[in-house]
Amino acid sequence: MDPRGTKRGAEKTEVAEPRNKLPRPAPSLPTDPALYSGPFPFYRRPSELGCFSLDAQRQYHGDARALRYYSPPPTNGPGPNFDLRDGYPDRYQPRDEEVQERLDHLLCWLLEHRGRLEGGPGWLAEAIVTWRGHLTKLLTTPYERQEGWQLAASRFQGTLYLSEVETPNARAQRLARPPLLRELMYMGYKFEQYMCADKPGSSPDPSGEVNTNVAFCSVLRSRLGSHPLLFSGEVDCTDPQTPSTQPPTCYVELKTSKEMHSPGQWRSFYRHKLLKWWAQSFLPGVPNVVAGFRNPEGFVSSLKTFPTMKMFDYVRNDRDGWNPSVCMNFCAAFLSFAQSTVVQDDPSLVHLFSWEPGGPVTVSVHRDAPYAFLPIWYVEAMTQDFPSPPKTPSPK
Ligand code: GDP
Ligand code: MG
Repeated sequence: MDPRGTKRGAEKTEVAEPRNKLPRPAPSLPTDPALYSGPFPFYRRPSELGCFSLDAQRQYHGDARALRYYSPPPTNGPGPNFDLRDGYPDRYQPRDEEVQERLDHLLCWLLEHRGRLEGGPGWLAEAIVTWRGHLTKLLTTPYERQEGWQLAASRFQGTLYLSEVETPNARAQRLARPPLLRELMYMGYKFEQYMCADKPGSSPDPSGEVNTNVAFCSVLRSRLGSHPLLFSGEVDCTDPQTPSTQPPTCYVELKTSKEMHSPGQWRSFYRHKLLKWWAQSFLPGVPNVVAGFRNPEGFVSSLKTFPTMKMFDYVRNDRDGWNPSVCMNFCAAFLSFAQSTVVQDDPSLVHLFSWEPGGPVTVSVHRDAPYAFLPIWYVEAMTQDFPSPPKTPSPK
């Protein structure tokens, strides 16, 4: 056997120096949209494997207790007049953003369900596990001009886990978040409260508190190209009226946006906001996004439903629009890049993928704190029942 692999390196060598002595350039991945404009790649119809809830104290529950029910105002009535600033800041319990939860809640679900995952034994070992929100960032990367990202990756028992790391820039911006932006964030959650009921038959109750610790998360299975995916995303509500009541097609994503008045404002909305809305909802197969348009006083007086599968139509003929194929091809290329970069199976080893607008995705390698993100309770529980060869001959 030739350790240098003459079969793969069979092309003619034009340098005197042996190939394996040449300095190897650090691997990186370009993000220019033009490089990813092939046909739309295979994307398996997402199926829901399960769900979990986080309560007002951010405690995990392996059930749908936090799921809410879509309950828009009657269409025959006067139309909405939601005051999104009502209750701010006195009835606002914001989640503590200093707590870095990483993949913990998803891992908690996975630990509980690992023995009965569909796809057969060995499916998980081939899969990529992450949050939907991380995949959304990958999808929009070729078009993003403002915010970079960092994704930490570890391989463990075959599975590739991806967990976002807050960039120094993002942290600085969060800590210096202007009061008006804080209120805008509240308004998004307040809109959900006006549009959702706690039980299928009942009406929304906007008199209570807005507590952003509460979350309902769907856990989904899909596949992008050759990459099996297991990811979870927060779901705003389910529509009890929808013909097919089966998740994820019953789910509805709620959004607020500035009221628009000129064609230029609409064009900009299609180019930038609809891209983010599409990426977020397409991944888990959420079919509709319901937008509430707010006026400068913070009142929502009109609603519009955007079917996820029709969003691309708004930019299809726009030279400066976005293309779903570019988003998905880039994501597939990143997942291949990550799979081939993270070779060692070691839960305390982290490959950190970093990206800033205008540049390529680059990689750095780290061990243990602060980048390692697979918790000891997860690694130990998974190691306990992972079939490994016995250390001593079994007494037969
Ligand atoms: P999204 O698509 O960006 O909303 O994120 P996901 O749906 O993938 O959410 C995954 C988990 O992260 C859920 O438990 C969310 O409650 C939580 N989450 C959502 N947005 C944020 C955020 O801005 N910061 C942090 N730390 N967690 C978030
Ligand atoms: Mg929402």
